[in-house]
Amino acid sequence: MQSGCSKCGKPAVYLRRYTSERLCGSCLVQTTLDRVRRTINRQKMLEENDRIAVAISGGKDSAVLLHLLHMIESNYPKSELIPVTIDEGIIGYRDKALKAAKELTKSLDLGLEVISFKDLFGHSLDELVTMRTEKSIGACSYCGVFRRRALNEAAENLEANVIAVGHNLDDEAQTVLMNIMRGDSRRIARTNVPRSRSIEGLVPRVKPLGELSERDIVAYSHHLGLVYHDVPCPYSGEAYRNDLKPFLNDMEHKRPGTLLAILRSAEAMTEAFLTSPIDWSLITCERCNSPSTSNICKACKMLEEIRG
Ligand code: SF4
Ligand SMILES: [Zn+2]
Ligand SMILES: [Zn+2]
Repeated sequence: MQSGCSKCGKPAVYLRRYTSERLCGSCLVQTTLDRVRRTINRQKMLEENDRIAVAISGGKDSAVLLHLLHMIESNYPKSELIPVTIDEGIIGYRDKALKAAKELTKSLDLGLEVISFKDLFGHSLDELVTMRTEKSIGACSYCGVFRRRALNEAAENLEANVIAVGHNLDDEAQTVLMNIMRGDSRRIARTNVPRSRSIEGLVPRVKPLGELSERDIVAYSHHLGLVYHDVPCPYSGEAYRNDLKPFLNDMEHKRPGTLLAILRSAEAMTEAFLTSPIDWSLITCERCNSPSTSNICKACKMLEEIRG
């Protein structure tokens, strides 16, 4: 990149397209930190004496999440970061990512809690996938439902009062469109519930990287040489979101700001849903007592289907 940093004039290494900023390495780090701080404050995601369970996958998003939270939370001595990895049991993938996660947390002088599907549900994801009778349900659907449950249980056991996940702007925009395309727009509100309105029985989940694009995250982690595992999951071909990725990338390239606009629309929809007279209260699953939209929760239904 030939021109200088828009902030300080030093040689730029990165162009943040949606803000039209050219950034040198140190301004890239500083503006990323500022952006995440703003997101946290705007949505009141964290409080100063939180025990924060940080979901660490071993990939770049969670590496950047932990790195940024580590800097931000150093100003709040009463808060605590508790990195947690959910080991779904995907041979050749999660085991390698777990190594990267351990290295990363060690470099920041933090421990790492590891909780596996096998321990919690009796089966690894690889086993669940071979056992499924409902072939139309993709591996990622099982993975998503059980990972969410596992993370909630882990956070409860560790007495964390909030869970931070590394979903980025690209992920969020894909999820919004996916829900619309599946005719499930109410879910947009369910997955974006602000912490202040969190559902009883569930540890609130916050997404501090929700306004950072995947490009921003790659640039940040490369600049700082963060340790992460970058091989795609063997099941990722089954993911619905992968079909949307090229379309959204193309739109963002042609019209920078598209992803952020989708996120803002989702926030407006969430607000409209949550303030509408619709009854959002959940019932309790008859089998496991978790909050659920139906008598038997999705995780229990999936386990029943698999165990036959
Ligand atoms: S790609 Fe699918 S199966 Fe693999 S980790 Fe992600 S959600 Fe789970
Ligand atoms: Zn600069
Ligand atoms: Zn249940």
